[in-house]
Amino acid sequence: MITTRFAPSPTGRLHVGNIRTALHNWMLAKKNGGRFLLRIDDTDAERSREEYVDAIKADLAWLGLEFYDETRQSWHLEHYDNAFQRLRSAGRIYPCYETAQELDLKRKVLLGRGLPPIYDRGALNLTDAERSAKEAEGAQPHWRFKLDHDEQIEWNDGVRGHQHFDPAALSDPVIRRADGSWLYMLPSAVDDITMGVTDVLRGEDHVSNTAVQIQMFTALFAAGMGAQQNLPNFAHEALLVGREGKLSKRLGSLGCDAFREKGIEPEALLALLARLGTSLPVEPIIDREILLETFDLATFGRAPARFDDAELERINTAIIHQLEFVAVSERLPAGMDEAGWHAIRPNLSSLNEAGEWWRLVTGPIDQLDFSAEDRAFLAQAAHALAWGDDPWHQLTGALKEATGRKGKTLFLPLRQALTGMDHGPDMKELLPLIGEAEVRARLERAAHR
Ligand code: GLU
Repeated sequence: MITTRFAPSPTGRLHVGNIRTALHNWMLAKKNGGRFLLRIDDTDAERSREEYVDAIKADLAWLGLEFYDETRQSWHLEHYDNAFQRLRSAGRIYPCYETAQELDLKRKVLLGRGLPPIYDRGALNLTDAERSAKEAEGAQPHWRFKLDHDEQIEWNDGVRGHQHFDPAALSDPVIRRADGSWLYMLPSAVDDITMGVTDVLRGEDHVSNTAVQIQMFTALFAAGMGAQQNLPNFAHEALLVGREGKLSKRLGSLGCDAFREKGIEPEALLALLARLGTSLPVEPIIDREILLETFDLATFGRAPARFDDAELERINTAIIHQLEFVAVSERLPAGMDEAGWHAIRPNLSSLNEAGEWWRLVTGPIDQLDFSAEDRAFLAQAAHALAWGDDPWHQLTGALKEATGRKGKTLFLPLRQALTGMDHGPDMKELLPLIGEAEVRARLERAAHR
């Protein structure tokens, strides 16, 4: 069974980039009848906040990305300690004593010589006596994972195809700080094993982490961890960029709360993000089954995907025009019923505008001034008004015959008198909502101003 996970750090709200990652992991699991897990990566106690955990869960709920189970890294510290002990006994973890300044200097020297800033493994050359001396001075070590330079790293990436890394070209990653706290790399690999994750789908900024983590997986398997001992499938999707290249700070940090406020529907966000950067056309598809049926990593491109908020708004408008009354009834203005929704829906580009249009039904409407001729015409309209199945066609039909007016001269003064506006929802649908007495009153008021 396929198991995917979404692993946000609770150091901020979800933004477009990680909403997309969450969606694709959810889709991958859902499409294959698998499980989608939420893992809160909260090993950074200083930057992690409970309010962000709540916000992430609320955002996933708003998006309708339900997860099978939830876990948190802070619940599994003993797993990491256990893995640490095993890897240390196997000689794959070693203590280091360089200060941040020393490391920085080493990097600068290498860069100055035009060399890649790879950690020189200086700490591996320390003798026991040197280490004891450091510790006697009060130095606490941080810890690195020792990459196996004899083991070339390769995998077949679900998006990028065959990948190859020479471990000698990578620094041994620091996995644990001197205060005992964990960096991202090892806990994530341990969790992916213990959670039975079969498919890791994430942004392409993680490609080199995958190279390192593949060696961690193998070392952990060799140290006896994991029932299956299978590497997960890895796939790295191209990053999102804004219309003009880099994802702007504003767009890149846009979270669900901002989208919600702007009146963006979750369905619009999902329809866009599901296919952005793939060879499939981005369309206002409201039916998730269709999005799921067509979801396929093979359609994912390697070029950065362009996120354009104007495109999101276009999709949003088209999605709103498909939303059924039951899906929105709780968010509509008081008193607005199904007929009201159908009347104004074609005019909306966001649900936030529903109140404005509904005011045309409930009033008060703007009072416009009319020419003497139009006033006479409107008085005639009030007089001719008859209330049947379709009062608008009855009224306009009768007036056309009686006055010879047609087109704009026939319809516009009526629309203006009845709604205070030059354009808006279909009058045929509005009239029954406004009601006979109020329609007559509005015509008379306009006629006698
Ligand atoms: N917490 C990591 C991140 O947000 C998770 C990366 C991963 O998917 O392994 O980047």
